[in-house]
Formats: sequence, structure tokens, C-alpha cells
Amino acid sequence: MAISFDLTGKGALVTGANTGIGQAIAVALAEAGADVAVAGRSEPTETLGAIAATGRKAVNIKADLSSIEPVGRVIDEAVAGLGKVDILVNNAGIIRRDDLLEFSEEDWDAVIDTNLKTLFFLSQAAARGMVEREGGKIVNIASLLTFQGGIRVPSYAAAKSGVSGVTKAMANELAPKGVQVNAIAPGYITTNNTAALAADETRNRQILERIPTGRWGRPEDIAGAAVFLASQASDYVTGQILAVDGGWLAR
Ligand code: NAP
Repeated sequence: MAISFDLTGKGALVTGANTGIGQAIAVALAEAGADVAVAGRSEPTETLGAIAATGRKAVNIKADLSSIEPVGRVIDEAVAGLGKVDILVNNAGIIRRDDLLEFSEEDWDAVIDTNLKTLFFLSQAAARGMVEREGGKIVNIASLLTFQGGIRVPSYAAAKSGVSGVTKAMANELAPKGVQVNAIAPGYITTNNTAALAADETRNRQILERIPTGRWGRPEDIAGAAVFLASQASDYVTGQILAVDGGWLAR
């Protein structure tokens, strides 16, 4: 069988796609042929326009993913708009920074709920249809802090380490049903999430010095891996965390 990255006829749901990495992934999936629904709390005007410009269908689902309350509705609206959800990209995420000794319960719960709990329950809801059709792709957005502890971000490190666990757990149970579950661990990518780091001259210099590629990543740098993990080309890849980090973890 010829290797194919073509997503024509597929329905993809991407969370948190109004900006940054999610936006780049949503547009790339559309460029590869998928119809794309985006779910988030902010108006994704630019993303919807970019998807429509590829000639694919763009569906907007308004949802605050800081709790699992909207999960069922998000899948229902995605299925109503796309016909089915063949591809789910769990991208929505937040980060809270504070010194370890000051770190609050609120900053713990907010990050775990959005970055880990919603990711699992949205995957569970999407997987029901995928299992029924015996095919599907779930792509979770992990982090370098899936592998490392970071500084001043304990709930983020915990959540992103947890993403590795649930990715593998879901992969094991869903593999016999024809559903692959993988994650992408982006390196340091220029987005809202990292604006505070990039603005800190010392941290910015330290980060750049450690990246073999010698530059921060761009959201588009993540898109190729997402298309691969959403496509038939990755049908024998499951339970993996693919780092797209300019070589950071190789150091
Ligand atoms: P971003 O520009 O801040 O994007 C985060 C996205 O998640 C936004 O669309 C945001 O919507 C959405 N989101 C956050 N909380 C939400 C909620 N409660 N309900 C619905 N949507 C919500 O940052 P990004 O860097 O592209 O982040 C995307 C993913 O990549 C995250 O999971 C992040 O942890 C991960 N990541 C980023 C980097 C990096 O270097 N940038 C590295 C590793 C991993 P709003 O605009 O409404 O907030």
C-alpha cells in the first residue's frame, strides 16, 4: 500500500486553535485535506478563515475546556458539523508560573483540569465513535516538561508528564480497535504560552544556548508531525511521544 499523508474525507477536531500551535495544526490538517472543527473559548476568526481558504469545511465550537462539562456537547457539535471525528488533537492548554513554596491549589487545579483531565475525557468521548468505525487518530500535545521538571511550573510538569501516561494507556486499549494515540512534545515555540519566557533576557539566552538548532520553534514547525500522526502514514505508530524541539532533548 502506498504511504499517504492525505486527509481527504477525514473530520478533525482541534482544541485551542484560535492561536499558536493549535492554529498551525488546524490549518495544516485542512491543507492535507481534512474538514476541521475548532473548539475553544476565544473567537477563532483567523483560523476559520485560513481553513476555509484551503477549500475545506471549518466548524466553530464555543467551549471552555477548563472543566469536562462541555465535553459531550463538543463531540456532538463536531459530529453534526463534520459527519464524524476521525482525528482529535488535544492542544488547548495553560501554564501557571510561581515559586514552588508559594504555588497555590488554584494554580495546581486549573492546569491539571485543562491540560490533563479534559484531554482524557474528550479523548474518551471521541474514541467511542472511532472504536465503532474501527479507525481514528488521537494526537495529544505534550511538552519538554513531559520529560523534565522545568522551573516554577510544577502543575504544568505534572500535567504534561500525565499526558505521557494517558497517551500510552489509551494507545494500549485502543490499538486493537484500529485507533492510534500519540503525543507531540513541542520544544520552545514562540506563542502566548512562552511570551513571558521570551521576554526574560536571561532565560531567553539560556534557552537559546541549549537549542542545537539555534532558534526558537515556530507553530508551523509542529504541523508536519501532527499531519503525520493524523494520517495513514503513522498507522503502525502508537503510544509514542514525538519531540519536535530543535534538538533540545538530544543535548
Ligand atoms: P497559546 O497560544 O496560549 O494557545 C493555547 C490555546 O489553548 C489557546 O487557543 C487557548 O485559548 C486554549 N485554551 C486555554 N485554556 C482553555 C480553556 N479553558 N478552554 C478552551 N481553550 C483553552 O499557547 P501554545 O503554545 O500554542 O499552546 C498550545 C499547546 O502547546 C498547549 O497545550 C501548550 O501547553 C503546548 N506547548 C507549548 C509549547 C511552547 O513552547 N509554546 C511547548 C510545549 C507545549 P485562549 O486564547 O482563549 O486562551
